[in-house]
Amino acid sequence: MKKQKTDSKLYTYRFRIYSNKEQTAFLDEQIGCNRFIYNFFLERAINLFKIHNIKFNYYESKKILPLLKKGFPFLKLANSQSLQVSLKNLDSAFLNFFQGRAKFPKFKKKINTNSIEIPQHFAIDNSFLYIPKLKSAIKVKFHKKVYETVKSVKITKTPSGKYYVNMLVEKFAYSPYMPKKTVGVSTGIDLGLKDFAIVTTGKSLNDKESYKIPNDKYLARTQKKLTKLSRQLDRKIHKRSKRDKTTPSKNYVKFKNKLSILHEKITNQRNDFLHKLSLRVISDSQVVTLEDLNIKGMVKNRHLSKSISDVSWYKFISMLEYKADRFGRQIFKVNRFYPSSKTCSKCGYIYKDLKLSERSWTCPVCHTEHDRDINASINLFLEGLKIGKELTELTPAEYAPAGYQNIGISHHTMK
Ligand SMILES: [Zn+2]
Repeated sequence: MKKQKTDSKLYTYRFRIYSNKEQTAFLDEQIGCNRFIYNFFLERAINLFKIHNIKFNYYESKKILPLLKKGFPFLKLANSQSLQVSLKNLDSAFLNFFQGRAKFPKFKKKINTNSIEIPQHFAIDNSFLYIPKLKSAIKVKFHKKVYETVKSVKITKTPSGKYYVNMLVEKFAYSPYMPKKTVGVSTGIDLGLKDFAIVTTGKSLNDKESYKIPNDKYLARTQKKLTKLSRQLDRKIHKRSKRDKTTPSKNYVKFKNKLSILHEKITNQRNDFLHKLSLRVISDSQVVTLEDLNIKGMVKNRHLSKSISDVSWYKFISMLEYKADRFGRQIFKVNRFYPSSKTCSKCGYIYKDLKLSERSWTCPVCHTEHDRDINASINLFLEGLKIGKELTELTPAEYAPAGYQNIGISHHTMK
């Protein structure tokens, strides 16, 4: 068992902001300057490499930054610190590319989500945000209280023209949340296709309950609308290729805008669903066990890909993880080769020939009838129960403050 560093962690809170006309113009200008800097240095880097075979260098680029303001006077209006962050972001994009973690950096486009980061000299009070170079305060809609010190803020503009502020805070392991007493409660989650998840939760084999969480039906409805709208959009007059010189019709632009609003709605709906579900699971259990799925590999499989990306397992797992940290819970991931569907949760018999099409089966040894997915979630629940017992012996969880209960064995594997 490896001890994880849980002294502090960075979190982001996101709030909608409501800027007036003058503030909106200011924000757009700032965002534009930052996009300009990013694209300018990206283009320069490409040319330097093509012509002189010189790689992008952050420090050298940073020195040029003040000189640029002479050639492009509009940059004088921008917050210099934000421009430096944009340059730093380009540096990270190059680093990720050279280390094989990401594709070659792309030019930022006005139609996409754009942002500015403000590392210093901002202030937040009650329901207002103050940022450098803007005299008036911007209204923020706080849907929750921020107790922590805000380390930096980032303002984003979505394609449909909404503005948000992301506040980066540092949380310490000793969390202000005091969760319910859930010592000894294990939860096993089997992620499904037909249902979003199958959950088993309880304190022992005889004291547990299993339930299925269906996929969000509202989401499915919005998605149908989206498909319809995309088809309509394609029928409007617009460019069919890069070389095509056609000017997009007014109707095209109108539909395009509608489409981006709908995209945002889907993201919000999905996040809402995942937030509620992950919070419920985390606040009800001490130990949460799931399969360590190779989602990347599965998404490559064309037949499964649509539903997998739709149900957003990735996002769900990461939400579980950070909520677990916040509430002092443990997350265990069992090796994906662990036969959670094939093992009889009552007697341990392994039904090797279980096919993907078999939704239920009867154990030939103890004659228990199994629903495939529920059986898998019970097995994961049982694994968590075992690990939970080890943990309680290691650290008397009842006496430890929340946060310190997490001794961080998040990558448990079983052979
Ligand atoms: Zn059995």
